[in-house]
Amino acid sequence: MKTLLNLFLKPNCPLCNRPANTELCDYCQRQLLRCRFPLGTEFSAEIPICVWGQYKDVLKRTIAALKYNYHTELAKPLGYGLAETWLSTPQSRLTSVTVVPIPLHAAKLKKRGFNQAELLAKSFCELTGLSLCSQGLERIKETEALHELSPEQRLQEMQNVFNLGSDFRRRRPPSSVLILDDIYTTGATVKAAIETFKISGIPVAGVVAIATTQKPINR
Ligand SMILES: [Zn+2]
Repeated sequence: MKTLLNLFLKPNCPLCNRPANTELCDYCQRQLLRCRFPLGTEFSAEIPICVWGQYKDVLKRTIAALKYNYHTELAKPLGYGLAETWLSTPQSRLTSVTVVPIPLHAAKLKKRGFNQAELLAKSFCELTGLSLCSQGLERIKETEALHELSPEQRLQEMQNVFNLGSDFRRRRPPSSVLILDDIYTTGATVKAAIETFKISGIPVAGVVAIATTQKPINR
């Protein structure tokens, strides 16, 4: 909640409580940059994927502060960082793609109050100039924490998770879509989303994510 006092007091860094001039203090910002992959880093995946950094240390804490401690302002530096990485890839010449954030289930959205992937997508689109479609997908099933499941259970769990969202049910995107998520781990979520688009005949240009637990391909 913004009060009159907040207009004059700069908020402290949400990670370390030091005074900060931007969303994070200088120290945490430097630590965050140490999680970033060098531009042009590649991953082995069936679909082009562009990721900002390794899911560890300060990047892990920044995403947690955004998701669980309501530091929604952190979506801006993270989304901008991802946009810069995307703009350095050859795929970024696709200027007519529509960005679709991975949605939360309605019950989870109500509990959290916001979808972090949607906030990240807003910042991402601000910098890339791509169009955003927040309701391109709808999550119709609440899923369990995937990391506790075996690969077979994961596939089972991710069956029929998504439907085409209200925006695309009304009007299809002009060309392909770019899926945006906060964290890319096993790829099960993203694969389920791709499947949903495929069934509807909507081409997927690729996936962008802030962080991944995957190791890049050694070059
Ligand atoms: Zn800090």
